[in-house]
Amino acid sequence: MAIVEPVESPIGARRRLRIASPVTREPIGEIDVRTAEDVRAALEIARKVQPAWAAQSFEERARYVTGALHVLLNRYEEFIDVVVRETGKARFEALCMEIFASCDVLQYYAKRAGSILRDRPMRMHLLGLMKKLRIVYRPLGVVGIITPWNGPFILSLNPTVQALMAGNAVLLKPSEATPYSGRLVADLFEAAGLPEGLLSVLLGDGETGQALTEAGLDKISFTGSVETGRNVAEACARQLIPCTLELGGKDPMIVCKDADLERAAAGALFGAFMNSGQACCAIERVYVVDEVADAFISKVIEKTTELRQGAEGEADMGAIVRPEQMAVIERHVEDARSKGARILAGGRRNPNLEGLFYEPTVLSEVTHDMAIMREETFGPVLPIMRVRDEEEALRLANDTRYGLSATVWTRDKREGFDLAKKIEAGSLCVNETALIYGVTEAPFGGLKQSGIGQVNGEVGLRSYCHAQPILVDRFGGKREQAWYPFTAAKERTMRRIMRLLWGTPLGRWLS
Ligand code: NDP
Repeated sequence: MAIVEPVESPIGARRRLRIASPVTREPIGEIDVRTAEDVRAALEIARKVQPAWAAQSFEERARYVTGALHVLLNRYEEFIDVVVRETGKARFEALCMEIFASCDVLQYYAKRAGSILRDRPMRMHLLGLMKKLRIVYRPLGVVGIITPWNGPFILSLNPTVQALMAGNAVLLKPSEATPYSGRLVADLFEAAGLPEGLLSVLLGDGETGQALTEAGLDKISFTGSVETGRNVAEACARQLIPCTLELGGKDPMIVCKDADLERAAAGALFGAFMNSGQACCAIERVYVVDEVADAFISKVIEKTTELRQGAEGEADMGAIVRPEQMAVIERHVEDARSKGARILAGGRRNPNLEGLFYEPTVLSEVTHDMAIMREETFGPVLPIMRVRDEEEALRLANDTRYGLSATVWTRDKREGFDLAKKIEAGSLCVNETALIYGVTEAPFGGLKQSGIGQVNGEVGLRSYCHAQPILVDRFGGKREQAWYPFTAAKERTMRRIMRLLWGTPLGRWLS
């Protein structure tokens, strides 16, 4: 049974979808698919209310966001229930990844958006004596946010908070697989008293997402796959509106010969199996230097066999959210197996659990001819490849169309830092994993096909604004040297200024 299934509806009525649990496969509920007309209606209201929101001070906007934080702190068990019911993720995972991270985001931007986005003077290197420059961070207007199912609450809330604090209205479209987690974002802000119409959550499927990208919004902030991201980028290009694209990855882990193997093995496990591997920054391939490969692999296998899978109690690993993703995982493992990979752990669905559970899987003898080393698997699979040395690891780590993030493991932190800098990825970690998206001040975004633009921190927050320079003349003379009329005397003066500025040591120091 699919987790999302169309439901027959009367002719002329909105299409309906039935959502089922990946754990029990029992129906959870039904949603109407919002249409282009619904998007237009929400946009119309958003356009009306956004100017008043933009005119509020940061302190006033922050009051709503802090209010949302208080609501979340009071109601998070209920929120976890909703997320777990439709994703099947482990409860502790939902607490850390969805709730803890959301509290941090709400507090971080409520407290700091003002200092990051307030109008500010900017020193000019050349014209400072004559002019003043101020930078104003002007909200874009109405922002469309389209999000995936793997972190359905945090990945919807995080960009929403940033866009709102920057003075925008938001139309949010969560994934069809996790509509109720997406709708929690609306519940949260409604309970916090956010002005009506400023945030609309439009449930639906790809049709709703596409309608959002074509509705004439002022920016699209998209998180999802490379394939859909390309469609979104095309739609934005046609309308000449900006977009940020947070897309897929095939993140490498390099284990150097001097790595702390205990920490590296534990990190590999968490990095690969967290959220059952359904994380954009999951470790999807490991390159371990031959000298330490046996020891590393045996630690990984030992730890993998200790993992507990299930949807309740103290389980470490939850379900695969969608059958479509299960099919990708099975295809990649089967392809690897048929091309000579060895399955050291897992390699199959969990026969003891009824729902969509895939066992934590460790592979060796893998090559770059296998899909498991080249395409995003987005599942609990850890393929490990032995390499001669760190140089070969680096070459293979960069042999990919993706570039989201990467990790290096070594006791020599300086070396680790230097090696990490050579990896073609948007974010890097040394002796750390799965955390970088959660470091709120770190700008996050992919290189190569893993995305365009960055979210989070100052860079991310400012991307929901247009940085508008306002240049003000200080003294108000009747006219400037460069204005009309153009005369030979003015030209001589200009040449003298140029010689002074860039042709003398004093001038170069001043400029
Ligand atoms: P998809 O690209 O399939 O979907 C993402 C969102 O886009 C969903 O809400 C989807 O709706 C919507 N959508 C579908 N078709 C269109 C369309 N034509 N126009 C506009 N929107 C559309 O990704 P998944 O949901 O499968 O998410 C998994 C992917 O997300 C992985 O590749 C993962 O790496 C990536 N990801 C990236 C992150 C990052 O920060 N870089 C973070 C988390 C995930 P619906 O689901 O209803 O069809």
